[in-house]
Order: sequence, then structure tokens, then C-alpha cells
Amino acid sequence: MTVAAAELTERESTLLASVPTGLLINGEWRSAASGQTFTVEDPSTGKALLEIANAGASDGAAAMDAAAAAQDEWAATAPRFRAEILRKAFELVTARAEDFALLMTLEMGKPLAESRGEVKYGAEFLRWFSEEASRSFGRYSSNPEGTQQILVQKKPVGPCLLITPWNFPLAMATRKIAPAIAAGCTMVLKPANLTPLTSLLFAHVLMEAGLPAGVLNVVQTTDAGGVTGPVVKDARLRKLSFTGSTAVGKRLLADASSNVLRTSMELGGNAPFLVFADADIDAAVDGAMAAKLRNMGEACTAANRFLVHESVAEEFSTKLATKMAATTTGRGTDPETTVGPLIDAKSRAKVHALVTDAVADGARAIVGGSPSYGPGYFYPPTVLAGVEPGSRILAEEIFGPVAPIVTFKSEDEAVALANDTEYGLVAYVYTRDHNCGLRMANRIETGMMGLNAGVISNAAAPFGGVKQSGLGREGSIEGIEEYQYTQYIGFPNPNNV
Ligand code: NAP
Repeated sequence: MTVAAAELTERESTLLASVPTGLLINGEWRSAASGQTFTVEDPSTGKALLEIANAGASDGAAAMDAAAAAQDEWAATAPRFRAEILRKAFELVTARAEDFALLMTLEMGKPLAESRGEVKYGAEFLRWFSEEASRSFGRYSSNPEGTQQILVQKKPVGPCLLITPWNFPLAMATRKIAPAIAAGCTMVLKPANLTPLTSLLFAHVLMEAGLPAGVLNVVQTTDAGGVTGPVVKDARLRKLSFTGSTAVGKRLLADASSNVLRTSMELGGNAPFLVFADADIDAAVDGAMAAKLRNMGEACTAANRFLVHESVAEEFSTKLATKMAATTTGRGTDPETTVGPLIDAKSRAKVHALVTDAVADGARAIVGGSPSYGPGYFYPPTVLAGVEPGSRILAEEIFGPVAPIVTFKSEDEAVALANDTEYGLVAYVYTRDHNCGLRMANRIETGMMGLNAGVISNAAAPFGGVKQSGLGREGSIEGIEEYQYTQYIGFPNPNNV
């Protein structure tokens, strides 16, 4: 089913030919019941890559049936059994790191070096949760009177629906699937229709690693609501884990209330990046490049608002603009490329509208700001100086390589600006004063903070936000708890009976 082969290198065509194109239901790769398919495109050319099965509601129901049927047997497996499947999957993904990296670059656009970084980051969740699987401890204690004993154990929540976004096609899947496997939950995965190929290859690898039939089911579709809606309403579903926009997350939370589902919500962000007067400016610029340009700015953790002390604003802006101007925009497979395309034409139009509005409000584009409209959805790295507080670009997720800079005079003003958003996922703070850094951690409403660090995601860290950035945490020791419930057994103290 590979299409447009003439546009692809032999290596790319061979890799695409190895990607399953069906839906994974009960351990089998199947066509959609309707026979329908859809096409996945390369955002750097707008050309077709592969045509794959397009699930409908009945396929979603079949996936739910398979997950429900497999749940009891899967929950009864030994933690070590589940751990070893995860460990094997880690080794297989690592062995095929170049395939996963190339596939992500083809369907999502990010430069190959970044895709390689995501493979490492994404695979780490498999290794981390293989280690956590057999270290999930309960406790044994007494009531205060000493009359009753208390046994606490952790149990798998049951079948889960996992919905993932397009921006980190491997890591967003492994960050959910690995703890669900470790905890003993079965799953229906619905990847984003823009980048489903990585999930399909990953599901293939999990089967190769020995994951039993029905534990993971994958239903890619162009009708997300039509396929997942009935699954969310299914009384056998116990948990919904979603990563995506706050708007869709809110709708899913409302739907999840009908069966009182457990939910984990990794939603949007609007990260402030604070640079204090005493900061190491070169380090802050390096951190800003990572926090802004990683994934072309298409990350929930992307620095969205640069809040810079007025005394260093000129130096910071000039140095950032110089580095941004030195990047190379192009197809992610080209080794020279440091900035790939945006995911689609709609995203590029939205980014440009935000830039145009900010300039109309008085901001100056000191680099970038004018896209050229050839093939592919490229947008030039852009630095906007003198952005007015209240500008629309500071209120919305930009999801593009654009850095708006606002100046502040005092710590109180910086905190007020940082907290002036309904989001609270991550903040970045650059200062040489450790106490100032820790005060910012106390005063900024955020689930995560990078102190003199522009990238802080890793498998051992509890990732997640506050306010409208979401509920729950992924990774770390908290990650597995999202897929477990706590059961308590009380009985008389044997010393007294
Ligand atoms: P999105 O439009 O909300 O989509 C996310 C997922 O939800 C996709 O799989 C999408 O499917 C699906 N979806 C859309 N409408 C749905 C519906 N009515 N019912 C069920 N599922 C539905 O977000 P996106 O554009 O893919 O991703 C970007 C957003 O994700 C940004 O806001 C970003 O901040 C956020 N994000 C957050 C984190 C985090 O950890 N906090 C990490 C990464 C991204 P289709 O795409 O197939 O329609």
C-alpha cells in the first residue's frame, strides 16, 4: 500500500513497507470493517507516505471487546512476566532506533537528530517501567487503637483508552503504554491520524516482545470522536488517558463523567521563560533555543513567553535572534536541517496569524516573521521584541518556532506575568541566585520548572501540569499509580482474637 514511492529513497520505501497498515485487534492486524483507508502525508512535501486502515465505530467496539476479554488473565500475570516484555521491547526499539527515528521524521517532520533523541527518551519509559513493574508495593499497618490491621494493595484499574497527539509519536505512546503494561492493564490506543505510523510499528515491536493478544489494541482513524465516543461510554472501560489540547481534553472529561472514569489529562501549555538580570545570558540563550525550537516549537513544554529583565533584554534578544538566524530549515531527513516543517497548513496559518497580530500590536520581528509558501509547511524561526502584555500571542499556545519577548522590571512583575495564563504545565527560570530560583518555584503556578535548564523531560521525572494543563502525572513512580487503584483490607488484630 506504499504510495508516491518515486518521491522516496529506497531506504524510506523499504522502511514504510515494513510498517503494519491494519488495525491491531486481539493480536491480529485487520482491515477496517468498512474497508476504508486513509493516507498519511510527509509534512515537508505534502506528499503521501502510506495508506492505512481507517477504523470506524464497530472497530473501536471490537478493540474494546478484545481489551475487556484479555483483562483478567493479563492482570493475573506475574509482575516479572510483564517487566520482561517491557525490557524486551526496550531492547527491540533500541535495536531499531534508526527505523523509528526515520519513520517519525517522515510522518511528523522533525529533524532526524531530534527523532533520535525522542527514540531514546521514548524507549526509556519501557526500561523505567520494566523496573517499576515488580516494585509496586502496598503496606501493612494498624489502626491507632491497635485493634485492627490494615492491608493495602495496588491493583490494575482495568481496560484503558489511550489517546495520543501527533507531536511526539513514540514518546507519548510509550509514556502511557509502558506503565499500563507494568500495572497489568489492557488497552485501546487511538493515535493521532496525522502521525499513526510510529504507533503501528511500535505495536508490532510489542507483539514481537511477547505481549499477549488483546492486551494492546490500536485503532487509528480520521473520525476520532466517532470511534472513541462509544468506547468512553462502554461500562467495561475503567480509565481514559489523554494527551492533547485543553479544548478536546475538556470535552473528554465531560464524557468520562458518565461512567466516573479514572482520567489522566496531559493538556496544553503556555510556558513562561524567565531571564533575571543576574542570569548567565549565554546559558539562557542556549536554554531558550532548546525550549523553543525543539520539535519546531510544537511541544506542550515549548517556551511560549520570554519574560526578560529590562537590563538584559537587548543582549538576550540579540543573541537569541543571532542563533535563530543561524538555523537551517528543511526536510528533517537532510543532515543539515535543524528546523523541520510544521505539521500542516492549518498550523502554519495559525502561527503566522499570531505573529501578524503581535506586529500589528507594536512588536518588532528582529528575525523571521515572513514565511515563504513553497511545498511543505515551513515557518522561519522568529524572534519578536517589544511584545505588549495582553497581546494574543501571549495568551495562546503558539506551537511554532516563534519567541515573543516581554520585559519586566521587578520579581513581582515577573511572577504576575508568568501566572497570567490559564495553563500551568512548565516554567523555565534563569538566574544565578539559587534562592530567587526556589522562590520562583514557590510562586509560579506550574507542575514543572526548569531551573537554568531548557529541557527537563525524562522517564524518572513526574511529568504533568496544574490549572488547565491537566490532571495526573506520567513517568516516575507516580506514572504507574495512574494505572492502579488502592484496595484496603481491614481485619482484627490477631493479637486480640
Ligand atoms: P488534539 O487536537 O487535542 O488531539 C489529540 C488527540 O485527540 C488526537 O489523537 C486526536 O485525534 C484526538 N481527538 C481529537 N478530537 C477528539 C474527540 N472529539 N474525541 C476523541 N479524541 C479526539 O491535539 P493535537 O493537535 O494532536 O496535539 C497538540 C496539543 O497536545 C497541544 O495543545 C499540546 O500542548 C498538547 N500536548 C500536551 C502534552 C502534555 O504532556 N501535556 C504533550 C504533547 C502535546 P486526531 O488527531 O486523529 O483527530
